[in-house]
Amino acid sequence: MSSTSQIGGGLTNIVSTSQLKSRLVIWSPDGLWWVEEKLAGDQVDHVAVMSNMLPGLHSLVRVVVGEPTAARMLEKHAHEILYAVYWWAIPTAKFFLGMLIIDTWQYFLHRAMHTNIYLYKKFHSVHHRLYVPYAFGALYNHPLEGFLLDTVGAGIAEFVAGMTTREATLLFVVSTFKTVDDHCGYNLPLDPLQMFSGNNADYHDIHHQVIGIKSNFSQPFFIHWDVILGTRMTRKDIELRRQKGKQRSE
Ligand SMILES: [Zn+2]
Ligand SMILES: [Zn+2]
Repeated sequence: MSSTSQIGGGLTNIVSTSQLKSRLVIWSPDGLWWVEEKLAGDQVDHVAVMSNMLPGLHSLVRVVVGEPTAARMLEKHAHEILYAVYWWAIPTAKFFLGMLIIDTWQYFLHRAMHTNIYLYKKFHSVHHRLYVPYAFGALYNHPLEGFLLDTVGAGIAEFVAGMTTREATLLFVVSTFKTVDDHCGYNLPLDPLQMFSGNNADYHDIHHQVIGIKSNFSQPFFIHWDVILGTRMTRKDIELRRQKGKQRSE
């Protein structure tokens, strides 16, 4: 059996055939539209775009380091600076912005799915059949929820951050890996996806338990919305609640 059909077989075990079909109906046109949408790779005249950026870069360097230093720097290193800004600084900033947009979209929509009884019963309760998450369970949800929460959120991030097809592809791949990893049930010490923020498998496991179902809405990258809006729950909070409960019953 090929690995593709193994994955397909695994998916049909955890997602019903009708759910899988409805996902394909949504994903296929969406994917085709997205691939055809804009120019990418060699189709883009990078030299022309970089040339257009040069005056702006000159002004920026002058503001940051002052006129005399800027003149010296730009005389010797204008092309290196432009290259680094175009190929590294701007894509990194766009990637980070895309992460923040996805997090913001998912936090408020996810929270609404828990505060609105109709949305919870009709859509989000499907995902919460999992009290103990597992990797494939990351995408075990109502097809419409998957479309709204994941596809639309990622599309908005791509649009607002002005990403190229390659940049958006990287963001989509990393966010998919991250959400699968957050449901894998393992907090492995050298897992890079779980090291860069407090939003990891353990954090999301709490949300899947009864005690934490009204907490830890943040997904998939950071936890700032939970911290700012007071919906964060840690293992320490759970322990403190248990101790208080014990004290009250004694
Ligand atoms: Zn939830
Ligand atoms: Zn989940």
